[in-house]
Amino acid sequence: MSTEATHLTTAYLARPIAPSALAELRASDDAGRPCVPRRATDGGDPLRCCLRPSAPGERIALVSYAPLRRWAAGTGAEPGAYDEQGPVFIHPEDCGGPAPSEAYPFTRPGALRTLRRYDAAGRIVGGRLLELPEAPDEGLDAALTEAFTDPVVALVHVRAVEYGCFHFEVRRP
Ligand SMILES: [Zn+2]
Repeated sequence: MSTEATHLTTAYLARPIAPSALAELRASDDAGRPCVPRRATDGGDPLRCCLRPSAPGERIALVSYAPLRRWAAGTGAEPGAYDEQGPVFIHPEDCGGPAPSEAYPFTRPGALRTLRRYDAAGRIVGGRLLELPEAPDEGLDAALTEAFTDPVVALVHVRAVEYGCFHFEVRRP
C-alpha cells in the first residue's frame, strides 16, 4: 500500500486476467467452449484483458472465466465448491494488456459492486455491497482496506451487482 502517492494513484492493484490465462481462453474458455470473436455494437463492454470498456465496432469475445480456479492454480489452494466461472469480455487476439492507469477500472458514481473476500485456501470469508461514491477510487480504496484488515483475507473479487460478473481481482499487497 502506497503512502506517498495516495492522491495520484489507487492504494491497491486491480489485476487484469493474466497473459498466460488469456492465451488459453482465446483457444478454449474455462467452460471448454471455443472463443468466438464478434463486433462490439455500442461499445462499453468491460474488457478484463485491458481493464477498459470496448469501443464501438471493436473485435471482442465473451468467454467463460474461472478467476478463483486460475488464482488457485498459482498458489496451490483448493477452493473446491467455491470455484465458480462466469462470462467476461476479452479481446480475442493478443492486445498487450492494460495501459498504465491511476484509477480503478469500470467505475462510475452510483454503480453497485460486491467485494467478495477469500482466504488463502480459496474459501469465501465474507463480502460486502458497495455503492461507488462520487470519488469511486476513494470508495474502493476504503472498502479494500476494510477487507484486508481481516488478516485471513488473501484475495478480493470485485464484481458488478446486477450481472454478478467478475470485474477484477485484488490480492493482499
Ligand atoms: Zn485487451
